[in-house]
Amino acid sequence: MLRTIILAASRSSQVERLVATAPFTRDLVHRFVAGARADDALRATRELVDDGLAVTLDNLGEDTVTPEQAIATRDEYVRLLRELSGAGLTPAAEVSVKLSALGQMFDEQLAYDNARAICAAAEAAGTTVTLDMEDHTTTDSTLDILAKLRKDHPSTGAVLQAYLRRTESDCRELATAGSRVRLCKGAYKEPESVAYQSAREVDKSYVRCLNILMSGDGFPMLATHDPRLIAIGEDRARWFDRGPERFEFQMLYGIRPEEQARLVGEGYTVRTYLPYGEDWYGYLMRRLAERPANLMFFGRAVMSRK
Ligand SMILES: Cc1cc2nc3c(=O)[nH]c(=O)nc-3n(C[C@H](O)[C@H](O)[C@H](O)COP(=O)(O)OP(=O)(O)OC[C@H]3O[C@@H](n4cnc5c(N)ncnc54)[C@H](O)[C@@H]3O)c2cc1C
Repeated sequence: MLRTIILAASRSSQVERLVATAPFTRDLVHRFVAGARADDALRATRELVDDGLAVTLDNLGEDTVTPEQAIATRDEYVRLLRELSGAGLTPAAEVSVKLSALGQMFDEQLAYDNARAICAAAEAAGTTVTLDMEDHTTTDSTLDILAKLRKDHPSTGAVLQAYLRRTESDCRELATAGSRVRLCKGAYKEPESVAYQSAREVDKSYVRCLNILMSGDGFPMLATHDPRLIAIGEDRARWFDRGPERFEFQMLYGIRPEEQARLVGEGYTVRTYLPYGEDWYGYLMRRLAERPANLMFFGRAVMSRK
């Protein structure tokens, strides 16, 4: 019910205007988004890197429906990578890319070509690209494009979502030498036919997938704010003797910053996912809508920075 209301609000330009001009909005947005421009992203990246964090930058943008928009997104990433490198922020900072923003919905070849250009720019900048994962109708296409990209750019990172029933098997496929795999719970509303529905089932799947990745040959990236899963990640790192150069934790900008600092203090690699861009409304609303728990999660984060 709540999710339906928030999702409806995320598509309403009237609500967007209301939210965008509400007094609390500025603080809320700044809490979770670096700012509207690449300069803002660079400044926030510098602060995070100075605090010992690694960063993955996401240029916010969605509903890409024309080749021109897709190419503009590609060019923005290429420019950003050049600037990150010029500012000495690579390899600590990499980029996260949504294939839908590069044209996947209407032209897979265009999305692949754009992603390849971004991977080449990342390589020239001495850093990497991770392909965000979107809803389950795109999983096969995204993994196909990933496999093609990895031929020339083997460090290209994948994202797997523990809520999908297929993911254990995808983890086995991808837990190979040099393979960077971000494991997250998953953020979209998916049908029971393809996804676990209860939090308990998703958590159990996350642990099974985490075990496969941490015992495999790849580079696991454990993306979660969940204290139990983080503790299990720490345990498996000890068990499989994985130092900070062989796996990392990842969290979203503005969520549990003290936990991020604690993990850095313990000697772990922690990467903060840092969104920037003018298209912040959809990002914030989707995060609230993705899971009812996230409403609490953002609410808590607004009230306290713990
Ligand atoms: C780096 C990163 C990249 C991501 N990339 C993708 C992607 O490509 N595709 C995709 O579908 N999804 C992605 N996600 C989103 C992800 O799938 C989840 O929707 C999101 O991370 C929430 O899941 P959670 O594991 O944090 O657990 P939740 O179930 O949301 O929270 C679990 C527990 O964590 C604790 N917690 C959470 N927030 C707080 C807080 N603010 N303060 C205190 N405790 C808190 C609470 O104990 C809570 O019960 C990404 C997430 C991260 C962190």
